[in-house]
Amino acid sequence: METKPRARVAVAGAGAIGSAVALTLARAQFDVTLFDPSPAGDNASGVAAGMLAPVAEAVFDPVSTPHLAVLRRARDLWPAFAEGLDLAILRDGLRVEGRGDWLADIAARFEALGVPFQRLDGALIDAEASDVEDWRVEARPALAALRTAFDALGGRFQPRAFTPADLPAFDAVVLATGAAGASGLAPELSILTPIKGQILRADRGPATGPVIRGEGVYICPGDSPAIGATMEAGRNDLMIDPAATDALREAALRLRPELAEAVLTTEVGVRAATPDGLPLVGWSAMPGVMLAVGARRNGWLLAPLVADLVASYLKGDNPGPDAALFDARRFSRT
Ligand SMILES: Cc1cc2nc3c(=O)[nH]c(=O)nc-3n(C[C@H](O)[C@H](O)[C@H](O)COP(=O)(O)OP(=O)(O)OC[C@H]3O[C@@H](n4cnc5c(N)ncnc54)[C@H](O)[C@@H]3O)c2cc1C
Repeated sequence: METKPRARVAVAGAGAIGSAVALTLARAQFDVTLFDPSPAGDNASGVAAGMLAPVAEAVFDPVSTPHLAVLRRARDLWPAFAEGLDLAILRDGLRVEGRGDWLADIAARFEALGVPFQRLDGALIDAEASDVEDWRVEARPALAALRTAFDALGGRFQPRAFTPADLPAFDAVVLATGAAGASGLAPELSILTPIKGQILRADRGPATGPVIRGEGVYICPGDSPAIGATMEAGRNDLMIDPAATDALREAALRLRPELAEAVLTTEVGVRAATPDGLPLVGWSAMPGVMLAVGARRNGWLLAPLVADLVASYLKGDNPGPDAALFDARRFSRT
């Protein structure tokens, strides 16, 4: 299916993925209406650490390890995507700290991936200043920046859920509904499983510099440094669980003892995951329904790539080499 510019497209979900899709489609002259019943940022995208971190993901997350190349390609789309937006891409890199034997294991993983790294004061860093691999954005301000740019292009926003009854009013709908389900709108969504994530925000701590990774934790510098994050497979509740967050806090204190003075607030989000860790992007078997879901722990990193793929499908352009990796129907064809 192919739609023409000025075609009426609904985007369901205003997280990182839906907001990036809506903006990209508005830039491409589609007539876009973005739906979301939740307050802005009240979703996985709003609580996320905002890392655009192909290297850390490939090194620390075994599910992401085979996807290093596509994660790097996604990161490389960010500068052009963010052009003209009130959104800073922080290119501060990665610093890995920990016990000697653990660091040796991490160094071996860098080597196995062929990723250059350096040793500095007993830590591993991903590269020298201008070549850092891992970047980040501040998640909530980034969501606001995407929305502002979308509004400025004449995009419409509906503060309610998209439902099947809305389908006839649009030429196509893009489902960017995160872990919410919406399987009534597309059968492929039934493959998604939830992964609950709890993350701490500190009222003080490192304000700038690289993301610090240690055993079982990362610390993202900022005005409210983020200490994350749990991966609780199969859980889709938003309950705060001190047992899980205590372990995060202890791991963070081993890296930065001064965080003992910080007041910590817990935030919770639910990621949606596919079996191979890559999102579902493309046409559903349901006519007129396009999927942009299941970005697991890399929704921010992947957002511009997912948005470009969606735009290519809607324009009828060749979606390029990453289309097959993300094929929305790859699990329902077997
Ligand atoms: C603790 C934590 C830390 C993370 N850190 C990072 C990180 O550093 N870097 C990174 O890249 N990723 C990170 N992630 C993962 C990232 O947050 C997700 O991959 C990303 O948020 C997914 O975005 P999304 O737009 O698909 O979903 P969501 O952000 O969940 O948004 C989905 C939206 O759809 C709306 N919705 C649901 N149903 C409907 C409907 N029927 N109609 C309209 N709207 C609907 C919901 O209200 C919601 O606002 C993290 C996640 C967590 C939980």
